[in-house]
Amino acid sequence: MIAQILDRNKIKELSRLIAGCNRVVITCHIAPDGDAIGSSLALCHMLTDLGKEVHVVTPDMFAQNLYYLPGARDIVVYTRYEEFAKQIISEADLIFCLDYNSIKRVDQVGKYILDSKAIKVMIDHHLGPEKFPNLIISHPEESSTSVLLFKVFCALGLVPLIDKKIGSCIYAGMMTDTGNFSYNSNNADLYRIIARLVESGIDKDKLYTHIINTSTLSRLRINGYAVSEKMTIYPDHKAALITLTRDELNRFDYKKGDTESLVNVPLQLPDVVYSIFLREETDYIKVSCRSKGNFPVNKLCEQHFNGGGHRNAAGGEFYGTMDECIALFESTLEANDALLPNKK
Ligand code: 5GP
Ligand code: MN
Repeated sequence: MIAQILDRNKIKELSRLIAGCNRVVITCHIAPDGDAIGSSLALCHMLTDLGKEVHVVTPDMFAQNLYYLPGARDIVVYTRYEEFAKQIISEADLIFCLDYNSIKRVDQVGKYILDSKAIKVMIDHHLGPEKFPNLIISHPEESSTSVLLFKVFCALGLVPLIDKKIGSCIYAGMMTDTGNFSYNSNNADLYRIIARLVESGIDKDKLYTHIINTSTLSRLRINGYAVSEKMTIYPDHKAALITLTRDELNRFDYKKGDTESLVNVPLQLPDVVYSIFLREETDYIKVSCRSKGNFPVNKLCEQHFNGGGHRNAAGGEFYGTMDECIALFESTLEANDALLPNKK
């Protein structure tokens, strides 16, 4: 019923690797989002149920809302448990790389992954996977790594083992990477898979409430402030910019994840085609970009902000001051016009 997209030989190889492994470490990208955590926990639960010793290692902390997912409290956050993370990575015989395509995306953990003797398997949906893993299951046409993982489970014959905890984690990733099925989601298989997950006992409404639709007062206030005071619209270029400095973040008691969907807000304006959000970290400016239609924000991030990503959601980093970063962005506006739809 669900389209078979996976290479049979790769699935055979994965099946053999899983059968032969004992100690597994699952890794995902820095600043893990719902898809990174959802897919990692789903795979962790599945392999644990198959009798393996499994840990999830993240490069840094993830947003508070994701603690709702079963198993989130057992995640080994590298920045908190550095020695333990290094030990389990070095002792693993199989390492999964989920929801990232480049070793740079796991920050300091990358070195230990590359040094480990473990076989490495990438399951991901970002364009242009690097070649470091032994087995690469890369499908950029999939809307989330979590939905790709479901398809991998399908090909491995593991769907009957998907229970409420595994289903909840897969659903969380599918939901967050499609903005609760509001983009990249015109695909009938997504809904066939959701039907199967609902049958496994997940409460999709509760997952939405806890993971997407729950806030804190400071989070509401910082997002309101950013839109009210720190958003610039460039009508001639169909672009929007939001910036938040360290001082402003501190003033609003910023916590990781508090500005997660802020970059999407300007896209609610019909005349805005792409949006950029600049957040000052301690030693660089974090860049987040979103767009509608064919406007390729990944190109913008690759060319100017040491980053990349998907056509409609990309990011990067800028080393310099906020003012320099804003000036750089504004200097790209004219050239970006060529990428706008219906350019007159
Ligand atoms: P976000 O804006 O949520 O941080 O990232 C959106 C998407 O952009 C991510 O899923 C990832 O594909 C990509 N991305 C974000 N930051 C970076 C970065 O620093 N480097 C690269 N290569 N991609 C990034
Ligand atoms: Mn993803």
